[in-house]
Amino acid sequence: MAKQKIETVRELIYYSYANLAMAHTAVEKKQEKYEMFNFMIRAKLFKGLKDGTMNMRTIFDDEKIKLQTGQICNYCGATEKLALDHIFPQKYGGQDNAENLIFACRTCNSSKGKKDLIKWMIFRGQFLPLMIIRRYLKLTFKYCIENDLIDKQIAELKDLELPFKIELLPTSYPKPNLLTLNTE
Ligand SMILES: [Zn+2]
Repeated sequence: MAKQKIETVRELIYYSYANLAMAHTAVEKKQEKYEMFNFMIRAKLFKGLKDGTMNMRTIFDDEKIKLQTGQICNYCGATEKLALDHIFPQKYGGQDNAENLIFACRTCNSSKGKKDLIKWMIFRGQFLPLMIIRRYLKLTFKYCIENDLIDKQIAELKDLELPFKIELLPTSYPKPNLLTLNTE
């Protein structure tokens, strides 16, 4: 496949989201590795997002999943000593509302602290459940729309203090057997 041309923030978020969807289908099917049809899903979704025939589903889908998941640490699955964690740190403009809040155990909560979610994931050395990354991507997308950043060049965001790190958005994922959807 030709190398993707990704220059704007919008393209990068879409590409990250398409890769996440590819990983999601492979995990759901319990595949050990990515197959041709997974790559086709990615290509189709990325193209559809760019030409406007598809969209990133609203965050309300994720809210439903959150309610179904119940009171469990969304990062590690612990069921005790839970607190509410702000996915986007409040220090960097993360809001104190439902879409930015999930349950996390005290250990994960204090380990994450005010770090960017993906930065923390890299620091942990273990990929987070895909549903959390999906929520993070949607929060990033929404933030960029609301703050008029979505059609900027990626490089323009690198030095801004934002609740996400544009250069860390995942554009490739480990093998599906190393990933989980949720912490249940
Ligand atoms: Zn935890």
